[in-house]
Amino acid sequence: MPTTKYLLDESRMPRHWYNIAADLPVPLPPPLHPGTLQPLGPDDLAPLFPMSLIMQEVSTEREIEIPEPIREVFRLWRPSPLFRAHRLEKVLGTPAKIYYKYEGVSPAGSHKPNTAVPQAWYNAQAGIKKISTETGAGQWGSSLAFAGALFNIAVTVFQVRISYDQKPYRRALMETYGAVCHPSPSNLTNSGRAVLEKNPNHPGSLGLAISEAVEVAATNDDTKYALGSVLNHVLLHQTIVGQEAMAQFEMAGDDPDVIIGCTGGGSNFAGIAFPFIGQQLRGGGKTKKRRVVAVEPAACPTLTLGKFAYDFGDTSHLTPLVKMHTLGSTFTPPGFHAGGLRYHGMAPLVSHLKELGLIEASAYHQTECFDAGVLFARAEGIVPAPEANHAVKAAVVEALRCKAEGKSETILFNLSGHGHFDMAAYSAYAAGKLVDMDYDQAELAMALAGLPSVPEPA
Ligand SMILES: *Cc1c(COP(=O)(O)O)cnc(C)c1O
Repeated sequence: MPTTKYLLDESRMPRHWYNIAADLPVPLPPPLHPGTLQPLGPDDLAPLFPMSLIMQEVSTEREIEIPEPIREVFRLWRPSPLFRAHRLEKVLGTPAKIYYKYEGVSPAGSHKPNTAVPQAWYNAQAGIKKISTETGAGQWGSSLAFAGALFNIAVTVFQVRISYDQKPYRRALMETYGAVCHPSPSNLTNSGRAVLEKNPNHPGSLGLAISEAVEVAATNDDTKYALGSVLNHVLLHQTIVGQEAMAQFEMAGDDPDVIIGCTGGGSNFAGIAFPFIGQQLRGGGKTKKRRVVAVEPAACPTLTLGKFAYDFGDTSHLTPLVKMHTLGSTFTPPGFHAGGLRYHGMAPLVSHLKELGLIEASAYHQTECFDAGVLFARAEGIVPAPEANHAVKAAVVEALRCKAEGKSETILFNLSGHGHFDMAAYSAYAAGKLVDMDYDQAELAMALAGLPSVPEPA
C-alpha cells in the first residue's frame, strides 16, 4: 500500500538546531552599527535581546542543543508530518513525486511557534517579563502570544494596519493567548506618529511595525524585542523542520531533487532547506545536485529584483545595517493578501546563499498562487495560508515541467501554514475580486536610491 504520511516518533525529534554558518564556503558579511558603520558587537544588541539569543545570532558552531523544556513544548505538535501528495500528483498527471512538510499542525497554524517558543523561553530564563514585537498577517503575533502565555511573558504586538483590518480573528487569537495588539502605524510611538502625520490612512508595513516594536523595547528597560524571521537565530530555530524532513525521507527511501519554500523574511524556507544544503556543502548526501527554490510575491520581489546591499531592517532606521537583498527600507509593498511576505528585505543568510549561487529565486502574482492553492485544497484537503500558496504554485510549476520532460523527479515543499484565518482572501478569490497588484515603480526607485551608502570594508 502506498504511504501517504511519514510520521516520526516523538523520541526522534531533533535534539539540535543546525547552524549553516559552520558550513558556509564564504562567511556572512557582518551586521554594522548604524552610527559608526563598524561591525556590531554582541553588546550592541543587548538592549533588544537576551545574551543567549545574541550568542546564537553570532555562533558558528554547527549544532546547538535544543534545551529540554523547549523540546517538551514542541512535543505538543512536533515532529510534524511529511505527506506524499498522491492526489495532487494524479490531478496534475505528473510522473513527479510531490512531498510536503506540513507546519500548519502547530497551535498557531504555522511554522512560527518553532522560534516563538525558544525565543520566549530564553527571555524568561534571562528574567524578562515583557516583549514587544510586530506582526504582518498575524501568524507571528499569535505564535509569540502563545509562547508568552507558556512562560509568563506579557506580549505587545504591533500588527500591520491592512492585516489588522483584513483579519480580525488573528487579533482575537492573540488576545485569547493574553497578548495586547495595536494596529501599526499607531500613535503610541514616534515612528508611528511620524507616518500618521503624513498619511492618516497608511496601510502599514512590516518595516514600520518593526520600528514601532523596536522603539518600545529600546525605550523601556524592562522590555525586550523579538523578531519572527530574518535574523540568524530565527532561521536556526526553524532548521528542526528540515532535519525532521531528512529523517522522514529516509523512511520513504527517497530524496528530494527540488526543495521549495516561500520567502517573506526567509525563515520557513531556511528551515526546510538549510539542513539539506549543509549536507551537500559538507560533501555528504546524494551525489546528485539538488535545486533549492525560494518563492516570493511578484509585488514584493526582494530576491529576484532587489539590490544586494547594506540596509536597515526597519523604516525608521532604528535597527543595525545588514547586507541583504532589499527593495529599500522606505518601500511600502502593495496590500496583497500574503501579509507575511510583505517585507522589503530578506534574511542575510538567504541573501548570501543566493549570491553564492546555492539557491534560486522565482516570483509569482497572487491570483496564480491562489489558483494553485485552491487546486491543492481540492486534491489534498488542506487550505494553505496565502503565503504558502506561493510554495504550492512553484511545486505545481516544477511538477508540470517534469510532466513535459517526462521526468520523475522528487519535489519537496514546505507547507508553512494553513489558511483558516485567511478565508476573507479566499472569499475574494471565489468572487473574482482578487487582483494582481504591482508595486509602484517610482516608489521602488526612490527607496533604492535612498539606500545608505556604506564604504567597502578595507
Ligand atoms: C510568516 C509566514 C511566512 C513568511 O515568513 P518566512 O520568515 O519567510 O517564513 C510564510 N508562511 C506563513 C504561513 C507565515 O506565517
